[in-house]
Amino acid sequence: MQETTPLTAQQAQLLSQLVQGLSTEQLAWVRGFLAGINHSVKQSGAQAPAAAASATAPQLTILYGSQTGHAQEVAEHAKARAVAAGFKVDLFAMGDYKASRLKNDKLLLVAVSTQGEGEPPDDARDFYEFLHGEKAPKLQGTRFAVLGLGDSSYEKFCQAGKDFDARLAALGAERLVNRVDSDVDYDAPAERWIEESVEALKRVAAPVAASAGSAAGNDGFSLAALASGVAPAAAASQYSRKHPFEATVLENIKLSGRGSSKEVHHVELSLEGSGLTYEPGDALGVVVKNDDKLVDDLIDTLALDPQATTTTQDSTLTLRDAFLRAYDITTLSRAFLEKYAALAESTELKALLAVGNETALRDYLYGRDVLDVVRQFPARKVKAAEFVGTLRTLQPRLYSIASSLAANPEAVHITVGAVRYDSHGRARRGVASTYLADIAREGETVPVYIEANRNFKLPSDTNAPVIMIGPGTGIAPFRAFVEERQALDAPGKNWLFFGDRNFRTDFLYQREWQRYVKDGAVSKIDLAFSRDTEDKVYVQHRMREQGKELYSWLQDGAHLYVCGDADQMARDVNTALIDIVAEHGGLGADAAAEYVKTLQREKRYQRDVY
Ligand code: NDP
Repeated sequence: MQETTPLTAQQAQLLSQLVQGLSTEQLAWVRGFLAGINHSVKQSGAQAPAAAASATAPQLTILYGSQTGHAQEVAEHAKARAVAAGFKVDLFAMGDYKASRLKNDKLLLVAVSTQGEGEPPDDARDFYEFLHGEKAPKLQGTRFAVLGLGDSSYEKFCQAGKDFDARLAALGAERLVNRVDSDVDYDAPAERWIEESVEALKRVAAPVAASAGSAAGNDGFSLAALASGVAPAAAASQYSRKHPFEATVLENIKLSGRGSSKEVHHVELSLEGSGLTYEPGDALGVVVKNDDKLVDDLIDTLALDPQATTTTQDSTLTLRDAFLRAYDITTLSRAFLEKYAALAESTELKALLAVGNETALRDYLYGRDVLDVVRQFPARKVKAAEFVGTLRTLQPRLYSIASSLAANPEAVHITVGAVRYDSHGRARRGVASTYLADIAREGETVPVYIEANRNFKLPSDTNAPVIMIGPGTGIAPFRAFVEERQALDAPGKNWLFFGDRNFRTDFLYQREWQRYVKDGAVSKIDLAFSRDTEDKVYVQHRMREQGKELYSWLQDGAHLYVCGDADQMARDVNTALIDIVAEHGGLGADAAAEYVKTLQREKRYQRDVY
């Protein structure tokens, strides 16, 4: 029988505060979530088997590799679902999983996201390497299923999921269901994957009947919650990705100075009355809208009726509204081109998509959007529904939160770099960034929600030193970190590395940093302005100059954080870090790399990069 876990007094109080204004569905989810918290608190860590299952229940292991928390969210739902189906489930972040268990874990579900260049998340790298290495065990008799999470506009779409899936099979394990590669709108495919995997598990492992309690949903699972994108962090609020809060803009200030080659805004929004809370390191999801002119041009080019009704996943809209709010008309991907090439019956596009033409395709995709394609390869007499079927849903954009709630009750701040450039003869605008820069003026409202990031958190030990590396708008979460540490009187030292183009125009939040240095909230600050001198100076140059001290901070237990560009900066900073450890720790290259990996494993080296 499932153990019924009573709520703690604090949780009961929280629940009673929450019930007002929640729908039955939301209420059921919150109750389940709190029960889930109790459940995990009662366990001696995530490793403990689920209490719900009986001693004879088949054992299932669920692993997730998650950077922003989506894969973790799916894995948690899969766990709840499998527990309800009578399985005994162990759930692990890959970083916490003892690889020596693998040969004995005969039923395995894997949910893993992919980073920019096709790599697994930081926390999953060790397990990925182990699995792909010579020490990986033979896995005959193991049954598994893999869910990949990714973004189809990247060339290496869901590559980590593909790799795990292929490697597990190569080691002799047998698929329960085929791998699912889910795009940015992952809710429905993830839900389907969970359903099918659990059904397949039931077929191969014949679990004992689920207890009445778990079948009734006391395990914290609700498909509706998954479909609505409600994440645990948002549990205390009725607002979520699918039900964003209309936050009033309190302030929208241009941070970059006159003459800057960039345009960066500081935007403050009110969360008053929303119940939304966040921690430093979390992100603000902004539900965006496409540019009016771009939408009109696209409808004109397609010769469609803007007022025709279109049914989207959630509602019925006019075509114009659907293009404005429901569909992504800017990101060009291989998936779109494949569907559109069929619709337009374009042999030229089909040739571009042919095997062996990857470089030409990459060049074509760069700097173009949907309108470019439609103009260049017109589809004759296309129907609205057919065209809409080629598009992905418009996704909210995530901004690293730049404020601490402790210092700014009921408000949230973000740092927005407005993206504007010309390409292929047309002016282009970043969907969210220009919406925030131009339209989100004071008094207007912006639909928002909170996206928790469990992998980018200040140390719980307030004495621990913190090193922050955040060039450009990557500075945002570190403003939140320092505000928080100051508001909480955290005694730990703080060291900031910031870089940008020019000192005079691009020193973001300059006055605040100067004040923090003066009053001791920031113990050290190192700046790298890349375009003030003939030779580029970047944050990693400053790190190297300060290598001895940086290494001694690490030896003293410092936690190191990197935020910003993933492609170049984060990679170069990682190399610099390894070099610093090698030089000042007197270690060889391999040992230094291992030192840095250990920092990562211990969650003392965390990155929020894309
Ligand atoms: P910039 O692209 O202007 O870069 C900021 C500074 O970094 C500039 O001085 C730039 O120099 C320098 N830089 C360029 N290459 C490197 C390198 N290899 N190593 C170190 N520094 C380098 O900053 P933005 O604010 O425009 O963009 C920051 C990036 O971070 C964006 O890609 C954004 O998407 C991302 N970002 C990610 C966040 C997240 O993941 N949570 C949050 C915020 C931003 P120069 O241009 O002179 O070469």
